Amino acid sequence: MTASASRRRMPAIFFGHGSPGNVLEDNYVTRTWERLGKEIPRPKGIICISAHWLTRGVKVMANEYPRTIHDFGGFPEKMFRMRYPAAGDPKLAERVQKRLASAGAELDSSWGYDHGSWCVLLKAYPKADIPLIQVSIDHRQPPEFHYKIGQKLAAFRDEGVLVMGSGNIVHNLGEMDWRLQNGAYEWAANFGDYIRESIVKDEPQNLIDYESQGLNARLAVPSPDHYLPLLYVMGVRQPDEPVRFETPMVEYGSLDMTTVVLGG
Ligand code: ZN
Repeated sequence: MTASASRRRMPAIFFGHGSPGNVLEDNYVTRTWERLGKEIPRPKGIICISAHWLTRGVKVMANEYPRTIHDFGGFPEKMFRMRYPAAGDPKLAERVQKRLASAGAELDSSWGYDHGSWCVLLKAYPKADIPLIQVSIDHRQPPEFHYKIGQKLAAFRDEGVLVMGSGNIVHNLGEMDWRLQNGAYEWAANFGDYIRESIVKDEPQNLIDYESQGLNARLAVPSPDHYLPLLYVMGVRQPDEPVRFETPMVEYGSLDMTTVVLGG
């Protein structure tokens, strides 16, 4: 690797993770995750913001060897035996906590890798040989707060750290229709288009103010957990940074599988 390449800023990725069951599948989406893992420069570490770690206050995973959490039900028994044995990175965690201290961030050793992180990373980095930490989502905070945390994390990209979010732009499990395997409700398509357009035009305020989309937003984002990881990734975006979408499709009417790649 040349000196200039080693100094290159690491891409950042928002993964649309969908069903935990993807971890057992070999499909268009999972093959895309595998490809991205090979395509982007190898990260020195990963900071993941997952839809599935919601806390009061901001927590930074500080365990040396975080456990694998099987935070799902109704899936084949073998999924509950799967592990993602990536090491944590307590030193990186400490630096992230300091960087986020003004947001009240604290170190935390109670959590492990939830399925928002490991079901994606088992595909992207199956050897689990890249240190991984998670930063929790303080669910009491407004959208702007999450965007600003992302901005504070941006500098880690210059050290070769991958900042990743894991959620879904549209995520309404109650409205899912199994007959619409590759189809979208109109409100899901419209909301997804609005978000993608706002990303292309680099209008983060539109993303923060997603509730301006009224009924479309209320149906697409019935609870903010899966949407908010996108705001962290948009927060690390630099001026004029290229962006591209992978798998911009909706499954079962109400599950937008778009993955957003910044700078890759
Ligand atoms: Zn999820």
